[in-house]
Amino acid sequence: MIDLRSDTVTKPIEEMRKAMYEAEVGDDVYGEDPTVLKLEATAAEMLGKEAALFVTSGTQGNQVAVLTHTRPGEEVLVEDNAHIFFYEVGAMAALAGVQTRPLPGVRGMVPVHRMEQAIRGEDIHFPPTRLICLENTHNRAGGAVIPLDYMQEVRHLANRYGVSIHLDGARLFNAVVASGVSAKEYASTVDSVQICLSKGLGAPVGSLLVGTKDFILRARKWRKALGGGMRQAGVIAAPGLIALTKMVDRLAEDHANAKKLASGIANISALDVNPDMVDTNIIIVDVKSWEEATGRLANDFLLRLKEKGVLATSFGGSLIRFVTHLNVSSVQIDEALQVVQEVAGGR
Ligand SMILES: *Cc1c(COP(=O)(O)O)cnc(C)c1O
Repeated sequence: MIDLRSDTVTKPIEEMRKAMYEAEVGDDVYGEDPTVLKLEATAAEMLGKEAALFVTSGTQGNQVAVLTHTRPGEEVLVEDNAHIFFYEVGAMAALAGVQTRPLPGVRGMVPVHRMEQAIRGEDIHFPPTRLICLENTHNRAGGAVIPLDYMQEVRHLANRYGVSIHLDGARLFNAVVASGVSAKEYASTVDSVQICLSKGLGAPVGSLLVGTKDFILRARKWRKALGGGMRQAGVIAAPGLIALTKMVDRLAEDHANAKKLASGIANISALDVNPDMVDTNIIIVDVKSWEEATGRLANDFLLRLKEKGVLATSFGGSLIRFVTHLNVSSVQIDEALQVVQEVAGGR
């Protein structure tokens, strides 16, 4: 199988498994796991922030961030396709008790003047706007890189209104590699960042939440409340260290593979994709013309791919998503393209 459903399917490389075996450990709820402490210090340093917290998943990192930044009844501005709004089980409402204000975006970006209009002034009827959430790269926008100057503009807006910013940087290092902007520069525009170790970076488990010392101290308490206080977690932090220190640069290969696959698919008349919109490792393809020509639905397209050994995922309606990663070679991308051509009915 050539599994292009997600970069979450990546398996730990041998060096990660060895590091897990050899990891020095302690009780991290007591703050005594040296490997976790090293991972947190490394992440904080890479993002130019004071402190970091190792969390079980990207979702936990994002939700702990919202819990730490807000109080119940406050309002949070989100782009309406943001993962934190779209894919996190309504947790912002259920756990933090905040009201989300989803705003339409273009390639993952809400126009800054629209954001400004949505910020609430003083009025007895209004929930106070407390937090803005950004996402870089943006998953549902097809792995789009959010430019630094946009993030800086949002920072200025947030400063003017006394609002905080949380960045869902599940794939921030894809943005770093694609744009040449450093993780520190991106992080300098926001108050907190969540980065995933378990996506393209190939670690088996975990994310980090980074921010000021005080923020992370309070976040640590929320993580405990959510059941995320882990004991000898150095075993899973050890591969995370390898993810951060050795797996970032190779993301460029995933991006090249994504470009190649998208360019090939763009030549297939029944399928619609614009390779110029593929910034990183995510390719969203519209199979609408194929649906109309065959009277079948996108899910049938996915089933046919699967029968021929290629896995992709549904992205709603006639859209399907392919994600390139560590465990798919350039040769396998050629094979996958061949299969996509066969299923789509040639050129
Ligand atoms: C995957 C992802 C998350 C959540 O990470 P999990 O570890 O799956 O909980 C958050 N945000 C974005 C943009 C993601 O792609």
